[in-house]
Amino acid sequence: MVTASDRCGVLPKADFQRLLDVLGAKGYRVVGPVVRDGSVMWETVERTADLPIGWRDEQEPGRYRLEQSGDGRLFGVVHGPQSLKPFSFAPREALLTIERSKNSFASVPTLPKSEKVAVLGARACDVAGLAMQDRIFLRDAYADPYYQARRNSMFVIAVNCTRALATCFCASMGTGPGATSGFDLALTELETVFLIEAGSSEGNDILSALAIDPSSPASIEEAEANITSCAMSQTRRLNTAELPGALYEAHEHSHWDDVAGRCLACANCTMVCPTCFCHTVEETPDLTGQRTEHARLWDSCFTQEHGYIHGKNIRPTIKDRYRMWLTHKLASWIDQFGASGCVGCGRCITWCPVGIDLTEELPALLKPSIRTQQKPGQV
Ligand code: SF4
Ligand code: SF4
Repeated sequence: MVTASDRCGVLPKADFQRLLDVLGAKGYRVVGPVVRDGSVMWETVERTADLPIGWRDEQEPGRYRLEQSGDGRLFGVVHGPQSLKPFSFAPREALLTIERSKNSFASVPTLPKSEKVAVLGARACDVAGLAMQDRIFLRDAYADPYYQARRNSMFVIAVNCTRALATCFCASMGTGPGATSGFDLALTELETVFLIEAGSSEGNDILSALAIDPSSPASIEEAEANITSCAMSQTRRLNTAELPGALYEAHEHSHWDDVAGRCLACANCTMVCPTCFCHTVEETPDLTGQRTEHARLWDSCFTQEHGYIHGKNIRPTIKDRYRMWLTHKLASWIDQFGASGCVGCGRCITWCPVGIDLTEELPALLKPSIRTQQKPGQV
């Protein structure tokens, strides 16, 4: 929802560089979508021309393509494989180093160096994913100091979606396509201007420094209409009405065997997911035996190793692992964190090499199982 207030203004597209300059002057390194290797990746953006101007993405199960539309839009690409996750929950993070000294040792914490990073181009689903990761890593008395240090120096610039991909279903998850909270600034790209809304006092500071014209009711109406039409155009949706109970009841459903026959256990879906947080730890001693590094790395519930606990693998088959992932994501996550672990970004559908689509798997699992329809004595 874009609101009319002094926290909302319009920036001509031709002046977009001013936003980058103001952020730079405030000490932020601006990171945004940049075309790289056939998709977009988060990279440092210094000039407007660094953005994927005129490009748009087409996504389908197991398929991602960029094409030039020539429409000159700065944010025509919806998203690439990366969500906001790598900025706060680093793919590899040294937690401490241990150094030997005579008959003792010393542990040296390795909190990340603080760097003000402004992430430009986060989508509403990404912002919702970040809010979920905050619940996981910053919970009560158990805040993770490494995550917190990175998170504290993040400035989030959301871009409201006005075009949905074939794989998007954020509207049915209540997380998009417009960002409603959790951002410092939110942009909506219109024909010749950006509507900019501040969502925090830091965002308000940037807006004041930009000294732009206030938004008009007509520009707000146009932005609202474009976001609503984007929501209406989404063809995928997830019906979560019966969750979590219905998925727990489907634990012995025959469809788990069907999806296990297609899943490669490659872990792509968990790497691209904005909310997945499985990790492992690794010791890396140096060759002298005087120093070792204790690091945290992203891991996945789809790997053999992740299910290995104390002499036994608790999820030895792919069926066990896919069932664990989907049941956690859509059911037990709700018991654990009070909300679904899926924000409807569709990345796991696009980046699955065999195109497994949770919006199709869930309804199949909630239908009566072939197995449960069999008469006693039938195999
Ligand atoms: S489960 Fe899939 S669609 Fe849902 S948030 Fe994760 S990657 Fe996105
Ligand atoms: S569901 Fe797809 S992406 Fe996920 S582990 Fe299986 S094959 Fe890989």
